[in-house]
Amino acid sequence: MSATNWHEKAAGLALETRFFIGGDLVEGTGGHFETINPANGLVLAAVSQGTPADIDRAVADGLKAYKSGAWSRMAPRDRMTVLYKFADLVEANTELFALLDTLDMGKPISDMINIDVPGSVHCIRYTTEVIDKMTGTTTATPDNVLHYTTREPLGVVGAIVPWNYPLMMAIWKVAPALAAGNSVVLKPAEQSPLSAVHLARLFVEAGGPAGVFNVVNGPGETVGRALALHNDVAKVSFTGSTEVGKLMLQYAGQSNMKKVALECGGKTPQVLMADLPDLATAAKTAAFGIYGNMGEVCNAGSRLLVDRKIHDEFLYSFMRESENFVPGDPLNEETNMGPLVTFEQQKRVLGYIDIGKNEGASLAFGGNVPQGLEKGAYVAPALFTGVNSDMRIAREEIFGPVAAIIPIDGIENAIEVANDTIYGLAAGIWTSNLTTAHRLAREIEAGTVWVNCFDEGDMTQPFGGYKQSGSARDKCFDTVLAYTQQKSTWVKLV
Ligand code: NAD
Repeated sequence: MSATNWHEKAAGLALETRFFIGGDLVEGTGGHFETINPANGLVLAAVSQGTPADIDRAVADGLKAYKSGAWSRMAPRDRMTVLYKFADLVEANTELFALLDTLDMGKPISDMINIDVPGSVHCIRYTTEVIDKMTGTTTATPDNVLHYTTREPLGVVGAIVPWNYPLMMAIWKVAPALAAGNSVVLKPAEQSPLSAVHLARLFVEAGGPAGVFNVVNGPGETVGRALALHNDVAKVSFTGSTEVGKLMLQYAGQSNMKKVALECGGKTPQVLMADLPDLATAAKTAAFGIYGNMGEVCNAGSRLLVDRKIHDEFLYSFMRESENFVPGDPLNEETNMGPLVTFEQQKRVLGYIDIGKNEGASLAFGGNVPQGLEKGAYVAPALFTGVNSDMRIAREEIFGPVAAIIPIDGIENAIEVANDTIYGLAAGIWTSNLTTAHRLAREIEAGTVWVNCFDEGDMTQPFGGYKQSGSARDKCFDTVLAYTQQKSTWVKLV
């Protein structure tokens, strides 16, 4: 399909600006806020803005639906039928979701078509399959007792998500929460508010009861906060920055001690040992690992820990691979880098380029606003060399296309530098030595470790962080269980 075609499709889109409560599209009580297309700085739409009163209403509807049992006690096979239909409808609306997220946050349309939408559909199908595989237990008891455990849903789940994968991050929470029988109130990021309402709409179209899946748009500080503080919300499932993640814990403590699941920031190391099996593949993968999705990825491989013995060779190879990442129009199917999500984010990332230079790191390339793209929030992919672990560019999550090469000397040094961070989301290890691979995999404090590859996997993988990268796991079988609570029933056989 040609680039013109996607522009035509975008121009023909009727944007839904309302959100979704109790099975209906509704206007918020807080007026409107503008969402901007970061590729050109133009206003896309004035989106209905929610208030804490709208959160009250959405949670009340969610609780009413939950208590009715229409979803929470629906027979497993029937719940599965609805969710499979829901997955089919999301898939059938691939173009709609692709266009909305691309327009809202600048992601290349080809990423939406090839990664975000199919990944989201697969997540719904995978979590749906868990529904009739969940089991309880019976335990050894005295003769006159029967003891069994069962899993029950929690009630209303609040899902608060970021803008870097608007559809997929929402689905990673909504799908397991619904599969487990909960009601959901979803709060999208204010930078990417357009797609979530269609998810809720399609759930109802698939046969989901009204009130089970609600969406409220609006600022994190008011609408998100009200959701996380709500006394009728049983669990808040959050993906976003570590800073806001810490607030979630406070909100839970200030309200009803709700369960809190946190998926937060990262500063992922890619360890490139001198004996790595294939330097060209490692360099290519490392470039994708930091420049894919414009570096706006929680597990972006932003710290390249390169053994001094292969430093120059790797640098040369990495620089050549980086040339393949060219910022451009995200509605062009050939584009593999769009703008950053907002002009604020662009300013922040450019600020880190200055910080790196002032700290004494060498800017090998990039880090500028590309010529001809000044109207959008673009930043050219950048690489710093000569970085050490004390520098802010090695410690703080930049959340943009900025890589840093930190030279290392051997395995012990690699472990020390890899773990010298408050984060622990993921790590990449490149070596042809089995012992080195397992030693590093064991020693590096990270929730996901990739060996001789990066950012690969499927829905069976638990995805989440150690340390200040969070406490929860998304994807995987156990994630559905985390949206349930266990009940123990002890029966005296009299
Ligand atoms: P953010 O923390 O600013 O916002 C995330 C969400 O929280 C948004 O919906 C926002 O409106 C809401 N929010 C903000 N302040 C709030 C408050 N006081 N109370 C309640 N809600 C509030 O993060 P972001 O800038 O949207 O996203 C980028 C961050 O997300 C990065 O740190 C990235 O690493 C992280 N992330 C983590 C994962 C993961 O799986 N670990 C995945 C994607 C993104």
